[in-house]
Amino acid sequence: MKYFEKVLIANRGEIAIRVMRACREMNIETIAIYSTADKDALHVKYADEAFMVGEAPPAKSYLNVDRIIDIAHKSGSEAIHPGYGFLAENYSFAKRCSEEGITFIGPSWKTIRAMGSKIESKQSMRDAGVPVVPGTPGGVKSAAEAKNIADEIGYPVIVKASAGGGGIGMQIVENEQALDEAISAGMRMAESAFGDSTVFIEKYLVKPRHIEFQVLADEHGNAVHLYDRECSIQRRHQKLVEEAPSPIMTPELRERMSQSAIAVVETSGYWNAGTVEFLYADGDYYFMEMNTRLQVEHTVTELITGIDIVKQQLAIAAGETLPFEQDEISIRGHAIECRINAEDPLNNFTADPGKIQRYRSPGGPGMRVDSGIHMGYTIPASYDSMIAKLCSWGMTRQEAIARMRRAIYEYVIIGVKTTLPLHHAIMHNKHFIEGNTHTHFLQEEHIQKTLARYVREEEKRMQTLAASLRQGKEIAAITGAVSAYIQSQKKE
Ligand code: ADP
Repeated sequence: MKYFEKVLIANRGEIAIRVMRACREMNIETIAIYSTADKDALHVKYADEAFMVGEAPPAKSYLNVDRIIDIAHKSGSEAIHPGYGFLAENYSFAKRCSEEGITFIGPSWKTIRAMGSKIESKQSMRDAGVPVVPGTPGGVKSAAEAKNIADEIGYPVIVKASAGGGGIGMQIVENEQALDEAISAGMRMAESAFGDSTVFIEKYLVKPRHIEFQVLADEHGNAVHLYDRECSIQRRHQKLVEEAPSPIMTPELRERMSQSAIAVVETSGYWNAGTVEFLYADGDYYFMEMNTRLQVEHTVTELITGIDIVKQQLAIAAGETLPFEQDEISIRGHAIECRINAEDPLNNFTADPGKIQRYRSPGGPGMRVDSGIHMGYTIPASYDSMIAKLCSWGMTRQEAIARMRRAIYEYVIIGVKTTLPLHHAIMHNKHFIEGNTHTHFLQEEHIQKTLARYVREEEKRMQTLAASLRQGKEIAAITGAVSAYIQSQKKE
């Protein structure tokens, strides 16, 4: 089935290519948009047609609604896929698409709006009987109210922006003295980042796990989940490693959590692909929010279920009925995703954009690499620092880890600092191997202690590779990587 003749992808980088890949397999023509900073980017070449959308700053390009709608009309696109980030959860954009007669590939704008407010969505989930993190029922109205609630739920608490996203503006408050200032700072940050100063308070769970459920629902009232993902390994409240299924999942917990996830979908009248996020601590779980879009980490779910989530999104947007029922969806094996960011893991994850001088991506059994980079590509400073998603699949979690370690050795990225050595450290970490992770995992001493060593090893490896490559010894470089791997395995 084709569903659409032409789809515009209002995004860039790996996710634009991911969506185009699904379209190409379905014989759907793709329209790319690009900023002046992206004129040589892979997603521009991959599409059937590409249009310059504006200058590098996102407000002038990938967030430039008028221009994007204009390009959609000009190119004859019937639908727009927003990817993630940029306009993906912007209800006014989704509304504008429907007013313009263009299909927005996602849920209805009303659902996006309702879910975009963390306060509103928490409230309706509480009403539907889904457990939520204890906290203020609405926005914080006065300092006195905040103090009362914080006293009641107990410190530490977290101040969050209702319209927030991307971990921006969240502040942990340890005691009453720090509360006033955190609320005023939170309101200022929320106003400047999201144009809405509403903040609320909830109990800050110490070392919870982040577990989420992928869901799919059609416009005819059918909803299924595609099982769970564990996304506890984060930096600055943003995910770095995701896996499916969660290593702590039991049939009983999965039953309870998936029922809550489906209740969230049904209560909100949700359709298309979405993610219901929960925090889990000490046997209890709490609804945190719903992401009304394709997630970065949808890959791991695709690897264990065999379902192409982007194709399902296209079919649902075209008004199709889900082609399967819950009992027809099963899990096979285990998958892990490592986000490869152009960042310095030893220097507070400072972005390190620049030119990729050498690039060779891993392969072999159980590997999937989604990326928008290539040799000679210059990573622009204007956008997110994620440059690739390295995913492994294995019959068991152990095999997925072994494949990931092997792939990290095969991966050659010369020219910018990346999170590769950090992933290396994580994949060899005893606690990770045992499945004992939580949202503060990366701050733990055991990982910090080994990280510097892995970064130094990685630098040495890349220097050796670069030297071999300079001498035209491509094969020596590859075998060098493999023998380094063998040596490191012997050390363990
Ligand atoms: P955003 O929408 O900005 O990404 P989320 O509400 O999804 O923010 O939270 C992102 C991350 O922040 C979570 O995965 C978790 O690590 C941390 N977090 C959020 N709320 C809490 C809480 N109440 N207790 C502990 N950690 C939290």
